[in-house]
Amino acid sequence: MTELLITIDGPAGSGKSSVAKLLAAKLGAAFLDTGAMYRAAALTAMQTGCDLGDTARLEKVIDSTDFKFEIEAGQMTVKINNSDATEQIRDPQVTANVRFVASAPSLRNRLVKMQRAFAAEHEKIVTEGRDQGTVVFPDADFKIFLTADAAERAKRRAKELAEKGHKVDIDKLQQEIENRDRLDSTRKIAPLVAAADAITLDTTSLALGQVVEKILGLIKNND
Ligand code: C5P
Repeated sequence: MTELLITIDGPAGSGKSSVAKLLAAKLGAAFLDTGAMYRAAALTAMQTGCDLGDTARLEKVIDSTDFKFEIEAGQMTVKINNSDATEQIRDPQVTANVRFVASAPSLRNRLVKMQRAFAAEHEKIVTEGRDQGTVVFPDADFKIFLTADAAERAKRRAKELAEKGHKVDIDKLQQEIENRDRLDSTRKIAPLVAAADAITLDTTSLALGQVVEKILGLIKNND
């Protein structure tokens, strides 16, 4: 039974994952990275070599795959048919293909079910994505929407990718981020948008710790 549910939505590179992780650690809560679910589904489809635009085929692929999303040492690990895919789902090729899963209502419904089942298993949870406060958990206790300038978000993603050994062209990365924002914000189902009752925080010039302190302050003031 969930007693405290906090949703964090926002565009790529706005700091959702880092904020959700740290906030969850401070609150003794579980955290859920729902982008990892979309990525895992996209990677699975890519591995089968099927046409990514063939939603009916993707439904079958997802239904016959065993996905495990678990928290280990404060990190979310992703297993696809018991094989660890935590790193692989971050591959830029997966990022480019995730839209095939994200724009298909029948595939989203499957992932939304998994997200609600995950939340139901935890007393406290911080969940992050694009539609957590609007569609998946409309009755969440606190809803946060994070934003940041596209240039700053590209810088953050470039740093993450460089740390993992990927070569990055920051201008190209910014273009990709803006393109993904456009696709995420304009799709018909569960578009990227702040819930009417969400609190929006611009993180462009804020450090991770400052964002988390602000959210903790909001929670405290509303207790
Ligand atoms: O957050 P992350 O960059 O890992 O998300 C990858 C993609 O998954 C997003 O660009 C979006 O298309 C999709 N996504 C979504 N709904 C969510 C989380 C992610 O559509 N709740």
